Formats: sequence, C-alpha cells, structure tokens
Amino acid sequence: MAHHVLEIEKLKVRFWSTNLLKLLAGKDPYQIIEAVSDVSLRVEQGTILGLVGESGCGKTTVARSVIGLNTPQAGSIRFAGKELVGLSQSEFKPVRRQIAMMFQDPNGSLSPRFSVKDLITEPFKIHGENGDDVNLVEEAQRLLKMVGLPPDSFLGRAPHQLSGGQARRVGVARALALSPKMIIADEPTAGLDVSVQGDILNLCTRIKRENNVGFLLITHNLAVVRHVSEKLAVMYLGKIVEKGDTDEIFNSPRHPYTLALLSAHSHLNPENGRSRVELKGDIPSLLKRPKGCEFHPRCPFAKKICRHEAPPDVREGGRKYTCHFPLQ
Ligand code: SF4
Repeated sequence: MAHHVLEIEKLKVRFWSTNLLKLLAGKDPYQIIEAVSDVSLRVEQGTILGLVGESGCGKTTVARSVIGLNTPQAGSIRFAGKELVGLSQSEFKPVRRQIAMMFQDPNGSLSPRFSVKDLITEPFKIHGENGDDVNLVEEAQRLLKMVGLPPDSFLGRAPHQLSGGQARRVGVARALALSPKMIIADEPTAGLDVSVQGDILNLCTRIKRENNVGFLLITHNLAVVRHVSEKLAVMYLGKIVEKGDTDEIFNSPRHPYTLALLSAHSHLNPENGRSRVELKGDIPSLLKRPKGCEFHPRCPFAKKICRHEAPPDVREGGRKYTCHFPLQ
C-alpha cells in the first residue's frame, strides 16, 4: 500500500490586503485574498510530485504552509502521519528538521564568506547538532560524495567558486544533511543550462530512490517534471485544476489550462497529435477573481456556462480535473 509522507486536504490560505485608495476615501480598505483554495495533494515516499503553474498561482504558498511559514485558515497538512496545522513554532521545530527546502539560488541567500563545508553542515548547527568539527567534516564529505562532488576539491571552496550546477549540487547535499523524509524543491533548475538541468533532475531522481525521500517539486516549467515526477498537479489561481499520473496527463491533458502549459513547450506537445493552444491575456488578480470557471477569460474552449457556473470536479480513475468541457 502506498505510504504518503505528505497529505494535504482542502487547504485554504488567506492574506489580508489593504487598498490605499479606499483608505483615503474613508471606505473599508481591507480585502481578503485567498491565495490557496481547497488544495488537496499527496506525496508518496520515494516519489516526486510535480506542482506546476504560472508564477503567483499559489504553489510557493502551499510549500510555505508545509514548513510552517504561512498559517492556513482551514484544511489539514499531515506529515508522516502528524497534523501540522495548528502546531506552535516550538512544536514545529522537530518537524522542520525532517522537511528540507531546496531553493532556486542556494548561493544568493548565503554569506560569501561561507565555505562549502559551512554551507552543508549549517543545518546541523541550526538544529543544535554541532558535534565536534571532525564529525562535521566527515558528514560534509559523505554528503558531497552523495551528490557527485569530490570532497577534497570542494570542501574549502567559496560559493563564488562554484558553477551553477555545482552550486545546486551543494544545495542538494545541504538538503540531505539531516536525512529528511521529504524535500521541497522550489524551481531547482531555474537559471541553469538545459544539459545541467538534466543532471540536477537525474540527481533528484537518484536521491529519492536511494534515500526513499518524497519530493514536492515546484516549477512553472512542465519540461522540468516530465521525466522525473510520478505524479503531477496543475495549479491555477490557488486551485488545483488537474492532477494525476504525469504520463497520463502529458499524453492526454483533460483541462485546457494543462494543454496550454504543454503547448508553451512545443516539444512537450501531447503525443496524440492534439493541436496547440495559446494562453490569452494575463493571469487575473486574486482580488478580482473571474466568476464561473476562473480560467474562462483565457480559455479558448469557454462556452456560456463557463462564465457563470463553477465547473464540477471530475474523477477518472486516479485522475481528477475541474472543467465543464474536458478535452478528450
Ligand atoms: Fe475552459 Fe470552460 Fe473548462 Fe473552464 S470550464 S477550462 S472555461 S472549457
């Protein structure tokens, strides 16, 4: 039976926004933005779930909620069987140790005075597992080997002495430091050459297999998840519009937004010869959500009902999508 390391059910995350014009006009200036609406996702141990959508769609807010940086207003986040919603910061600390974050730019946020050894062993220090320095060196050597970097030539290097691909490998080593049960990778290949992207994705695949780690891989780029994620979820305006097995979705997307994302990468076009569609217009503001199907202003297949009636959730085997007129 599948063992899910992460189970998110009907998650809602809201933020307050202040409208200065309304404030000056003496009107109520506060508005609620629902950044994440009823999102349900599962990550199985030893597998990768790709969470895909345009920037601002709420995928990073989901990730931040999992590590306790955003407070959900409703729903449930179970990690390794433990409910995380409602935990205090001190209750969260041991959980955070088991969930590692891999950021887009592992160097940018870190001091240039750090050596690779400092970067990789910092999680031990943050979580109060200093040990003596010899142990930390041994750990850093072990972790560098795991990510394919020779320890002797990399331990003492400064961040600016690393190529983009090497820096991401150091980021993976750092993420693995505390033997996490899950890794959240936010745009792990952004800014890398295509061939280096492939190397990093292959490394993630090896890591998940060898360490039985669950990955939540967040990206705006479907090409990134095509060959590495077993499951895929497509997010639009804070909602999941389609989810299921990655291969099934690539071969026959049901939601027009998924097809549009696939079309944006012509080499990823669905293999059944379906025509391409292009996204019209910009992603709407969360403050002015369209009525009916929220994708309708940009959908080339929208009909009258789409403008005033929210589409139903449709289940098809292990797949789920939300559309009045799913593609066949
Ligand atoms: Fe397009 Fe209508 Fe489906 Fe929404 S419900 S995605 S507007 S066809």
